[in-house]
Amino acid sequence: MIELTPTDLERYRRQITLPNFGELAQKRLKSAKVLVTGVGGLGGTAALYLAVAGVGRLILVRGGDLRMDDMNRQILMTDDWVGKPRVFKAQETLQRINPDIEVEAVFDYITPENVDSLVQSADMALDCAHNFTERNLLNEACVKWRKPMVEAAMDGMEAYLTTIIPGVTPCLSCLFPEKPDWDRRAFSVLGAVSGTLACLTALEAIKLITGFSQPLLSQLLTIDLNRMEFAKRRSYRDRACPVCGNTAPWRYSQSSPMESANK
Ligand SMILES: [Zn+2]
Repeated sequence: MIELTPTDLERYRRQITLPNFGELAQKRLKSAKVLVTGVGGLGGTAALYLAVAGVGRLILVRGGDLRMDDMNRQILMTDDWVGKPRVFKAQETLQRINPDIEVEAVFDYITPENVDSLVQSADMALDCAHNFTERNLLNEACVKWRKPMVEAAMDGMEAYLTTIIPGVTPCLSCLFPEKPDWDRRAFSVLGAVSGTLACLTALEAIKLITGFSQPLLSQLLTIDLNRMEFAKRRSYRDRACPVCGNTAPWRYSQSSPMESANK
């Protein structure tokens, strides 16, 4: 594990002092490499909170250029960047906010050609793409390479969140054998809604990396921000799941999840 510098101890002091957090959790964050797909209102904001928390290495994956109608929610972007590739602006903003971490930018979408090497190069992934084609590819690769994945999606004022550990919890395909109709282009969204889900997504990743507190394992959090209703329901693995049905369980330890995950 990577040791903390005096600057780290000062920068992250207010979280290191959380009960049951401590320097060990901070070292785990610093040693972690997290893949974030879909660096928009959800993925970009989640990446921001991972960057300020001190996750040592981030890989941002997003194709396409910034549009004016992204600006109501993509808080890593600036007005003068409209028309240019989003992912490089996200990288630049994160590096300016926290120069002590490494941020890699991949100007591409998740594809069958790149997904395996991207997943293998990271300890875990945040699934924040806006379409289920990329989501399914990422889920399959995370199961194949046994990498945990935080799964977050939204539509309008509704959202869901869960954390997937292959062989331990249901995978995305177990949860949704038929995908929700949530991947229309130009979906309607408020920045405060994608930001709310993004903070919870980042928190799941931080919990999983550090072993601090309890992530949503085999639990699906559903969020209705019209009514401000948050509900958790238990979710179950599908033993006949075409993606994870044959995945042998790993020895998972809640106190050191990443170490047990990467054995
Ligand atoms: Zn499955």
